[in-house]
Amino acid sequence: MAPTPPLSNLQTRDLASVVHPYSPLHKLDQMGPLILESGNGVYVRDTHGNDYIEGMAGLWCTGLGFNNEEMIEAATAQMRALPYYHQFSGRGTEPAIELAEKLKEIAPVPISHVFYTSSGSEANDTQVKLAWYYNNALGRPKKKKIISRIKAYHGVTLMAASLTGLPYNHMDFDLPFDGILHTDCPHYYRFGKDGESEAEFVARLAQNLRDMIEREGGDTIAAMIAEPVMGAGGVIVPPKGYFEAIQPILDEHDILLISDEVINGFGRTGEWFGSQSHGMTPTTISVAKQMTSAYAPLGAVMIPEFMMDALKSQSEKIGTFGHGYTYGGHPLGCALGVKAIEIYQRMNICERVRSMTPLFERRLEALKDHPLVGEVRSSGLLGGVELVADKATKRAFDPKQGVGPQTAVHLQKHNLILRPIGDTIAICPPMIIEEDELNALFDRLELALDDTEHWVA
Ligand code: PLP
Repeated sequence: MAPTPPLSNLQTRDLASVVHPYSPLHKLDQMGPLILESGNGVYVRDTHGNDYIEGMAGLWCTGLGFNNEEMIEAATAQMRALPYYHQFSGRGTEPAIELAEKLKEIAPVPISHVFYTSSGSEANDTQVKLAWYYNNALGRPKKKKIISRIKAYHGVTLMAASLTGLPYNHMDFDLPFDGILHTDCPHYYRFGKDGESEAEFVARLAQNLRDMIEREGGDTIAAMIAEPVMGAGGVIVPPKGYFEAIQPILDEHDILLISDEVINGFGRTGEWFGSQSHGMTPTTISVAKQMTSAYAPLGAVMIPEFMMDALKSQSEKIGTFGHGYTYGGHPLGCALGVKAIEIYQRMNICERVRSMTPLFERRLEALKDHPLVGEVRSSGLLGGVELVADKATKRAFDPKQGVGPQTAVHLQKHNLILRPIGDTIAICPPMIIEEDELNALFDRLELALDDTEHWVA
């Protein structure tokens, strides 16, 4: 059951001392924070002893669930051997080398080198810096703008938040920075026009992108960043042919394509990378989250040979490559990354996700009969359920009504943790989830949707 006042000692201390990210800070006193103390497989337990199915794998990240022993052993061994070292001044560690080699081995496009960060946001900030550095190396100082998309989520550091295309990441933070161009969101259900086929929608978006590039001048644009499946924007699966339609336009103008695989990567969509599931051929790739099953913070940028050459030539000109994070390539994160990929490979994670996908899709499809459900969408074990006020007209609820957040309250009451993104309920369970657990997840979701139906009535 959801924690209800009176608040426990821990809840009271939490409220007195901790600022919670992405939380309605003005309401937390009444809601009471949910304090977790342990995990087991796809379950987490709160300090009241309640077990929840963690249907979001934390923040789309604990692919191996919450108590993988091999991971714990790998972490312990690394902590004993060398708890910290960095990558600066040409220093390194074996886990960092091994992980880079593994990333190159599973990469969907030719990758020659890996730059480590501590998070997805830092990876995307690094992507922009590398794209700028690269164009400076090539003597193209004007070619600097970055294209992103409305509803994209690329993180919260200043540049990553600028790339992000969600209003609450910009409002009153004085963002986005100049030079970031947001093009259309490829969500056919929401942005397709009346009578427009999906193919026509794709063609319109491609034309809009072409117009934007020509208006701005292709020689002023360095890169476009895109998640294959948009996660925190509402689990938006691109229509068929979307990346195939936009990629040649970028190529024509020599614009790099950055795949943000921070959520999609490491089997989530049934392939190692979401770009492989969705017809995208990126130049560079950002990864984090499931790379270590989130057992330690780690992000990375994967780059091709020609970018590495540019970095070397700029380094020669300037005297050093002046970028890096204290915790980038942390040996603990890298040892866990090596172990996680080893486990994913051994359990044939892509095949496993693909084998669970029909059940996931079947249970999602069944939700379409629910009076509140406007659209369901998914790719592999990544799904979204969009709740609407009127199914026939697709009319959304007034955001002030808070239907999504209230549904999360109902979900918690049924011992299930999912994430409301506006009125879309995101589902992204640990990839180790078993059939009976997946069925239980959907059974609980159905109960919560019924509660919401009564609540809005
Ligand atoms: N990119 C994507 C697609 C994400 O979903 C996220 C986080 O959810 C980020 C980047 C930012 O990652 P981090 O929170 O590790 O900075």
